[in-house]
Amino acid sequence: MRAVVFDGAELRFDPDRPEPVPGAGEVVVRVLQAGICETDLQLVAGYKGFRGVLGHEFVGVPLTGHLAGRRVVGEINCACGRCDTCRANLPGHCPDRTVLGIVNHDGAFADLVAVPERNLHAVPDSVSTDAAVFTEPLAAAFQIAAQVPLEGGMRIIVLGDGRLGHLCAQVLARRVARLTVVGKHPAKLAVLDALGVETCLLADRPQSRSADVVVECTGSASGLPLALALVRPRGTVVLKTTIAGEQTLSLAPVVVDEMTIVGSRCGPFDQALEALAAGQVHVQPLISERFDLSEGVTAMARAAEPDVLKVLLQVDAASP
Ligand SMILES: [Zn+2]
Ligand SMILES: [Zn+2]
Repeated sequence: MRAVVFDGAELRFDPDRPEPVPGAGEVVVRVLQAGICETDLQLVAGYKGFRGVLGHEFVGVPLTGHLAGRRVVGEINCACGRCDTCRANLPGHCPDRTVLGIVNHDGAFADLVAVPERNLHAVPDSVSTDAAVFTEPLAAAFQIAAQVPLEGGMRIIVLGDGRLGHLCAQVLARRVARLTVVGKHPAKLAVLDALGVETCLLADRPQSRSADVVVECTGSASGLPLALALVRPRGTVVLKTTIAGEQTLSLAPVVVDEMTIVGSRCGPFDQALEALAAGQVHVQPLISERFDLSEGVTAMARAAEPDVLKVLLQVDAASP
């Protein structure tokens, strides 16, 4: 089969990768479409020391199992199902887990990917494949409200105008009256402006520390210090960025101002699919470009460019 593979040194297209062998509880899914996200770029920069087939945002069709023949999306954490953490219903934190395209498990930038059958969710007929490919990152946006109690009168700043910042902003703008996205790229902010989301260039950011919650989606090491400079005393910073490098930060202001820092990762697929089906989130304006799977290396380079939002990999050419 065809696949986009990172070997620890080089990213390359492999036209002849062996097909995945499904493990216990796994089914093989024929991939229709996949999305490139910041994590993929970080993995190639050395994050997690990953080697193998990249890709964790995908829509596909299982070859076997109870959803065979239907369009599905898949949760990315492959948990053991037996340990104390799994029994406490936290499979996403299973210490023995693998993660599709991120930790010790081949991903979806390929014709076929093996996925635990219990991770699969059927895509409603009303949700296009283009929209469904956003389910995984959109679920991550829904995770914020699952972790931080939100009230309608709160002031939220989303820091970062990239792929994840856009999705977090659209989800949270429905929950609170005052939300501003602070970013560096006028063209990306304009996409949000068109959706009625308030935006502001980084240079014009508020100088007072007035936000109740700052959601840090910058994908850069400078994001957390900046978030701490925008949140009010006793406020909350939600950290979404995972970066490959080490970070140093003075934590005294966190103590003095009694701030809460919440790490936030994967979220509820069911809520994301419902929101897409209800038309509550607009993902079409986020699609910058699409490439055939065979052009995966070029597509990854394109996704790293500053003016680009979502880059899609067309795996099954017949599927829109
Ligand atoms: Zn991702
Ligand atoms: Zn486990």
